[in-house]
Amino acid sequence: MFLKFNLKSVLVATLAVFSVSVQGQDLLARQAPIDKKMRAIDSVSLQRLIGNELLDNPAGDLYQEWSNQHVHHYNVKLPEEYKIDLRNFCMPTPSRKITSKYGWRRSFGRFHYGIDVKVYTGDTIFAAFDGKIRVVRYERSGYGKYVIIRHPNGLETVYAHLSKQLVTEDQIVKAGQPIGLGGNTGRSSGSHLHFETRFLGRAINPAEMFDFEAQDIVRDYYVFRSSKNKSVAKSGGGVHRVKSGESLSSIAAKRGTTIDRLCKLNGITRKTILRPGQILRYS
Ligand SMILES: [Zn+2]
Repeated sequence: MFLKFNLKSVLVATLAVFSVSVQGQDLLARQAPIDKKMRAIDSVSLQRLIGNELLDNPAGDLYQEWSNQHVHHYNVKLPEEYKIDLRNFCMPTPSRKITSKYGWRRSFGRFHYGIDVKVYTGDTIFAAFDGKIRVVRYERSGYGKYVIIRHPNGLETVYAHLSKQLVTEDQIVKAGQPIGLGGNTGRSSGSHLHFETRFLGRAINPAEMFDFEAQDIVRDYYVFRSSKNKSVAKSGGGVHRVKSGESLSSIAAKRGTTIDRLCKLNGITRKTILRPGQILRYS
């Protein structure tokens, strides 16, 4: 806002000086196009400034914090209803082939929080909306190389199993900008893109918004309702039964919390060996 005011006052001052110095009729006539041009430049710069300001703190009214940690847990009250604008989207990949849907996976005995789209190693992956890169990390037993972007529409999008990340944390990106290359890193068999859409940490089925087959959005606006998301939105008293192969980090990611919080809640340390069947509190 400061810059916006500053720019305007500079413009006003410049015009004022100009008008004062102008005496003759022909000078006034010549002033008109200059005035017009300056006005055009002014509005473009203003728009650019306002745009970058929005992207500098995307959805700042919803998210109280900005962190480069992979925390899918936000200690904020969910709005009853929130309208998410999907209109200025870009499909993260031109691939139309879904290899695994969102939801409970019986074969793995766990919930799949995203959608898997077939891509080949090296295929370009694009930002779904304008936004700011929140996380660029590597998780050996989970997401592999992944990127999380926070968008002004309130969503956070996750792109996982990449072979290469092309962005850095805190970088501002535009919808359609390349952010990584498809791959097979982390817990993945066969190259694919694991894509998640989250709102204040709560996973939403990406198929409610993106139709990869049609390469289009499903609707212009997705309305998030906390009543509809009660099962995942509930706070307090959550317990997790450890399954074989799970680690504190995979449980933390799955339950939308952090390893430190799991340790604190359960009186354990990062070095504690988990056994299948063990019950852990996560909230
Ligand atoms: Zn997946």
